[in-house]
Amino acid sequence: MSDSDEMGRANEMRRAKEMRPAKEMRRANGMPPADELLQPEMMGSEAEVAFEGALRPKSLAEFVGQHRVRGQLQLLLDAATIQNRTPDHILLAGPPGLGKTTLAMIVAHESGRPLRMSSGPAIQHAGDLAAVLSSLVPGEVLFVDEIHRMARSAEELLYLAMEDFRIDIMVGKGAGATSIPLDLAPFTLVGATTRSGLLPNPLRDRFGFTAHLEFYDADELVHVLRRAAVLLELRVEDAALIEIANRSRGTPRIANRLLRRVRDYALVHGGEATRAVVRSALELYDVDELGLDRLDRAVMMILLTRFNGGPVGLNTLAVSVGEESETIESVVEPFLVRIGLIIRTPRGRMATREGWEHFGMQPRNDIAEQLAHKHRPTGNEGARAGTQQLFGDEL
Ligand code: ADP
Repeated sequence: MSDSDEMGRANEMRRAKEMRPAKEMRRANGMPPADELLQPEMMGSEAEVAFEGALRPKSLAEFVGQHRVRGQLQLLLDAATIQNRTPDHILLAGPPGLGKTTLAMIVAHESGRPLRMSSGPAIQHAGDLAAVLSSLVPGEVLFVDEIHRMARSAEELLYLAMEDFRIDIMVGKGAGATSIPLDLAPFTLVGATTRSGLLPNPLRDRFGFTAHLEFYDADELVHVLRRAAVLLELRVEDAALIEIANRSRGTPRIANRLLRRVRDYALVHGGEATRAVVRSALELYDVDELGLDRLDRAVMMILLTRFNGGPVGLNTLAVSVGEESETIESVVEPFLVRIGLIIRTPRGRMATREGWEHFGMQPRNDIAEQLAHKHRPTGNEGARAGTQQLFGDEL
């Protein structure tokens, strides 16, 4: 392993630790863990970080899908190289597990610049950010994950830093306080966010380029999986890859994680990873054909049986299944909307006809009548709606 790989690993481990609080809080509060296999967030265990690190594409050419974003980033990097300057600041927005960290690493790698990794939750005071900014070397790429969770005071410091590569450091308090200007080395900020709607406009406006990452389709996920299987020296049938892709919720991180479980299963039972092996392995892990896990099914069952298919508010659903409403809102609901099992209405969430059918149930006659008049989203509309859930109406 090269020195830069080693540093990248250490950086990732640190970031994973900083990003872990939600799950640990849930455990500390005695709440049951959500099914972790299908959680698109990084789990943060050492094995997971190492596994992800090994599978990360190192160049834009290796990065699967997201064609528009890739083309735009390539242009931005090429233009900076021709003009011999640092590339513009970049904001990467999209649900967890779609490749934001990977793209930040690629930006540094392709432009031959060092990378510093940090995250919003680690920047709780302006001083935390000042310490990072003042120690950057010229041209360094600074990656700030979950940038919407950074402290307000740090955000204000960042405005001037992004625009003029300068910060004002406040010394003293009250009437005697003075600000000392400090010049910074030119740098490129790559911010990542799963909630771009929560970013204040002045911060959003200071990024030269914003990329919205979309969920991947099954063909693209097969491509991601095939590449991972080669790197892991794993023999997998094409039909098996398709089966895994279909259950991966449009998310490469989940696809790779399921592949790892299938690899374990094939190892223990001996032989190649066939479609039948995938089916047995994923059945064992409670992942169904659509990629629904235990929590998704619990939410759907409560919605169908206790609330007659809705409409019902998100918080009520969350309390009914004993899960945090943030998890339901950012992970469960976008996926169920995307695959067309529920819709959002002004009065709450409602099961669609497909939702009832998937669970082999029939709505009451009056509800069936209402659903017949409702617009049924096509696959693509559903996918867009799923992404919109996370970004409000800005897409
Ligand atoms: P995010 O930062 O958006 O949560 P990551 O960049 O950490 O997501 O990606 C998670 C995992 O998915 C990584 O291990 C990476 O290898 C894989 N991955 C993500 N996007 C792609 C892609 N376009 N092509 C291949 N692998 C990908």
